[in-house]
Amino acid sequence: MKKALAIILTMVFLLLSGCGKLQPGGRNSSGSNEDANDSREKITEEGNDRAKEETRESGSESDFSSNPSPAPSETIDIYEIKPNEAGRVMIVMFHRFVESFTPSASDDGQFVITFKDFENLLETLYNKGYRLISLRDFLDNNIKVAPGFIPIIFTFDDGSSGQFNLIEENGELKVNPNSAVGIMEKFYKEHPDFGLAGTFYVNLGTNTFLGKGTLAERLNYLIDMGFEIGNHTLTHIDLYEAGEEKIIAEVGGNQKKMSELVAGYSLDTLALPFGNNARTELQNFVYGGEYEDVEYHNRTVLRVGWNPTYSPVNKDFNPLSLNRVRAPGFFPVDFDLNWWLDNLSREEQYISDGNPDKITVPAALEDSLDKSRLDGKELILY
Ligand SMILES: [Zn+2]
Repeated sequence: MKKALAIILTMVFLLLSGCGKLQPGGRNSSGSNEDANDSREKITEEGNDRAKEETRESGSESDFSSNPSPAPSETIDIYEIKPNEAGRVMIVMFHRFVESFTPSASDDGQFVITFKDFENLLETLYNKGYRLISLRDFLDNNIKVAPGFIPIIFTFDDGSSGQFNLIEENGELKVNPNSAVGIMEKFYKEHPDFGLAGTFYVNLGTNTFLGKGTLAERLNYLIDMGFEIGNHTLTHIDLYEAGEEKIIAEVGGNQKKMSELVAGYSLDTLALPFGNNARTELQNFVYGGEYEDVEYHNRTVLRVGWNPTYSPVNKDFNPLSLNRVRAPGFFPVDFDLNWWLDNLSREEQYISDGNPDKITVPAALEDSLDKSRLDGKELILY
């Protein structure tokens, strides 16, 4: 508890001290949006650094290795596994993936990870008992992770090629193995119980996943693999600076473009470019509306920083403002994923009971629950 309190106090201090360029509320006063695709991330979530286990794997690995979505287990030893389905979940925010990187005056690499480091990160997460789930399953409170394991969510902003691109081999399109998706796919083949999931926040009015294939082919490829596509506005605008018409054209326009590329696909979650939401009185236009006869609706809005988010059954869970944890950049910074891996205790995190139809929570945490969110699921307090 003391550690949790210390973390909270540190965050409050960082918020007040405004050590980053973002102002409280995620406003970023700097930055034009005219930059080329590759430099966008630098400006994009810069300033996010304000925000800145003993993991014991329960159960035997072999129980899960051949079964990425284990069937609900009938009985578990609660006192052995110690599930906590009211605990925190990390939604990780990735940006650029590169083969190698040299920091420069214009890019210190805070949003850059090398392919090799990403591979190592997957191994680390796996060994610490994390298992990938989709954002959709998280929002639906349909968390299918084996007993004793910890759900984690990956998100990718800006649609850069290092995240995913297609190459052509013998006339066929395939995932570039030197991309985040290529690496995740390979890791999944070797560790099927880790899972394969993630949401890509794209700006369909800009270059997206440049490489072989058409844009529609690239998006369909990801969707067919089980990944999700989310809204990041049509051209990566600062929503705080936008009026009603512009917000609708950018958020709805991105959905319209998506509907043209992949019929019937709804971009129903949104990651805020620059971490900035629209001004309060205009936020409803971000959450839903209609643009040129195309309806759009965002069930959740993801922020830029900086801490693990709440379980869907926690009182403080607010889908319209979910925090994310920054992926490790070229240099370690406080409150990035590696920092949290060192500082977030197992007790504070979401530990699965293995059964998506039951919500198991230590009795001491009962007050943190919003029972109306149980949605018919059986609550087990222990
Ligand atoms: Zn962005």
